[in-house]
Formats: sequence, C-alpha cells, structure tokens
Amino acid sequence: MCFRPSEKMPEMPEVETLARKLRKRLVGKCIEHVSLSGFPLRRPFTESFAMTLRGRTIRKILRRGKYLIAELEPRAFWLIHLGMSGRILYHARSEERVKHTHALIRFSDGSELEYRDPRRFGLMAAYDGFRLDQIPEICSLGKDPLSCGFCGQWLKTKLQRSRREIKSFLLDQRNVAGLGNIYVCESLFLARVRPQRRCHTLSSEEVENLAAAIRNVMRDSIRHRGTSFSDFVDSEGNPGENQNYLRVFQKEGDVCARCGFPIRRIVQGNRSSFYCSNCQE
Ligand SMILES: [Zn+2]
Repeated sequence: MCFRPSEKMPEMPEVETLARKLRKRLVGKCIEHVSLSGFPLRRPFTESFAMTLRGRTIRKILRRGKYLIAELEPRAFWLIHLGMSGRILYHARSEERVKHTHALIRFSDGSELEYRDPRRFGLMAAYDGFRLDQIPEICSLGKDPLSCGFCGQWLKTKLQRSRREIKSFLLDQRNVAGLGNIYVCESLFLARVRPQRRCHTLSSEEVENLAAAIRNVMRDSIRHRGTSFSDFVDSEGNPGENQNYLRVFQKEGDVCARCGFPIRRIVQGNRSSFYCSNCQE
C-alpha cells in the first residue's frame, strides 16, 4: 500500500469536534470488551492493546494536534489518529459491524465506540506506564495553534531559522501540530502570504498576521464543527459545516472574495495549494 496523501484528511478542528462530542459520552465509562478485525492499520495493533484497555475507566478525553487521546484509570493512554479516512462512531447500543470496522470497544453500560477506516492509514495504540509527554507520537509534536504559547513572536523565531516554503513548514507536525492542507491554504489566504514564500523572508507584520490567521481559521472551523467533503462525520454521524465557509481551498477559478482575481491552484510537495496571486504576496 503506498501513501498518497488525500487533499482532505481530518485536521485539528475535526478531531477537536470529535473530542468535544466524546467527552460528553465517554467520561466515566468502563471498557468491558475490545474486538479487533485482525487487519493492521498504519501499524498493526500490539498484542497488549486489548489487554491494556479492558477493565479500565475513561477519565478524560484529550486532543494533541490531530491525535485523540483517552486518559484511562488506572493510568494508561489510548491514542487514536484518523489517518485519511478513519471514523469514530458512538453507538448507545450494540450495532452490527460493517465491512471496514477495525475496532469495536464495548462499555459496561452496553454502549460502543466503533473505529471504521476503509483505507487503514489511521492508528490506534495503548500506552501503559507512560506519561502523556513520553508517548513518542505526542512528544514529537510542535505547538498547538490554540495553546497559549502560540503567538507571532514564537512563530517569528521559528521562521527566521528556516529556508523552507511556508506551506511545507506549516504542514510539518513537528512545527505546528494539527494543521493540514485545508487550513494551511485558508490561513495563508487570510494572512495575504503566498504558499511558496520562503519562511525567513516573512516580515514581522506578516508573521503576526499569519499567527492570528491560523488561530482564527481554527476557531471558526471548530465553531462550524469541522470541514466535511466526503469522509468526516462526528461521533454521532453528523457532517461539519465549515466547507461552506472556505475562501480558497478547492476554489480554483472562483473569484477571490477580497479582490476579484481568480483563485489559482499549484502543486507543492504532491499536494494542491490554492491562493490568490493578486492579494497574497
Ligand atoms: Zn485576491
């Protein structure tokens, strides 16, 4: 199986939408049974996965970047990444599993959490005896746009040291955690910065605008419960609405809402970038 990134993978606002829904449903529930399809996801399930989960209670639902995390009692962590096509669905009562169901977690009150993933690029793992910041997937993540340290000054220091294109810098989860193709395109548009610009060439004003744009784009999208083209639905099966508010993503040929020029599409690192060649510099 070769990894070809989809243009529309779940990003931080979609995962945050899920985390908020699941928090209301799952906290306090005890995991009674874990059933797996036997097919590997991005990595195979470890032998101890089901054993670590079974008998533990969900204490908290957290999010780091694009990872959804359940903190369990006695202390362990259950990590979920949706990859390209993963879905987490909550069922109040047991339902029949479908073709692409790869994990089914049943709670002691009879409710279930289903992980469905046709392309199997997602990830599910359990960590016992680790602190959250010791988990390999988590400790390598960069700053979350909604965390208090995410500001123009912090971003400026990072950008000054990099000669990469700003788009690829922002997509790198080791720099900023949670951004993907959709929200990087939208943030660069709001900040009036072209996706091809080299990081170190951004002025202080542009960096301030970019940091603010990223935060605004993320907050707005969470308010719209994420972006749904075909795949993303929340744990109750509802699509998000942010696709109705996008300004440039997948709008090639449409007119820019700010200046009336046509939106352009270019390819950078195998992914489409959408921008206005007139008002993004
Ligand atoms: Zn424009």
